[in-house]
Amino acid sequence: MPHVAFIGLGRMGHGMAGRYLDAGFTLAVWNRSQAKAADLIARGARWAASPADAAEGADAIVTMVADDEASRSVWLGSDGAAATAKAGALAIECSTVSYRHALDIGRELRGRGLVYIDSPVTGLPDAAASGKLTLLVGAEPADLEAARIYLVPLSTTIRHFGAIGTGTVYKLINNLMGAIQIAGIAEGLAIAEQAGLDMNLVLESIETGVAASPQVLRHSRRMVARNFSGATFTSALRHKDAAYAVALAESLLRDTPLVGSAAVQAYERAKAYAPDDDEGKMIEIVSRPKGTAT
Ligand code: NAP
Repeated sequence: MPHVAFIGLGRMGHGMAGRYLDAGFTLAVWNRSQAKAADLIARGARWAASPADAAEGADAIVTMVADDEASRSVWLGSDGAAATAKAGALAIECSTVSYRHALDIGRELRGRGLVYIDSPVTGLPDAAASGKLTLLVGAEPADLEAARIYLVPLSTTIRHFGAIGTGTVYKLINNLMGAIQIAGIAEGLAIAEQAGLDMNLVLESIETGVAASPQVLRHSRRMVARNFSGATFTSALRHKDAAYAVALAESLLRDTPLVGSAAVQAYERAKAYAPDDDEGKMIEIVSRPKGTAT
């Protein structure tokens, strides 16, 4: 049976790791806080004492952690996966990281004899747990073919954008556009509320109008109801993704990305307000009436 090391068992990673057990793979898991691994261990996963321990003997090492810093630490830290990974093992980075980091970590890991692909994902935690993610891959074509058996249990769609780093470029523009939209929904709804409009009519009009993107449909009703239960994507993660995307934009575009920068600033405030709560709480920040203390 293929042997997978899975590192990072947060909202997304926990469900993804479970998919390998569903597929009958041999699985070793590590997470910074062990409690999140309990049910996976009960289902047959081996708890590893460190990323290095998890990677020992693995054919593929899959990581799903928060950001660049976490990714660097689980791959290249003193107990990182690269310390023990066997030559030729697949290193599959599913976390959303910056473009610079994707290139740097790819170079480092390839230099150590690993086969690196970047494969950030779209889809919410329920899609992660049911193997319905879309994978956004940057890889040499032959490396993608070698990785495919480890990608199939996670996904319904695999999109190959090109060389290492290109999956991350797409993921970052996707999430920047999402950040802009979500901040825009909050602003539009807040204006309508303060102006005293009938919010049921506003919602009905939004949902049947040309602005009704999937993000708008996902967030507008919950924002009006101030229903932020079951956070799937946090303000801290949205801020991180928008900031990584704007850093990439600044390296490619002649003019400063004004709208993207505004979204980063909006999510700086949302992160300061409630970092681990649902990103939709943006409405609570922008809906404060004039004259309210910040
Ligand atoms: P999450 O629930 O906050 O989990 C974050 C994971 O990273 C946890 O396993 C956490 O460990 C680990 N971590 C954080 N800092 C670390 C560090 N310094 N060293 C080692 N491990 C560290 O986040 P998530 O929603 O699963 O997101 C994971 C990744 O997927 C992120 O890159 C995110 O942008 C991306 N993503 C998320 C979604 C979504 O809908 N949630 C969708 C697509 C992509 P602990 O458990 O110990 O805190």
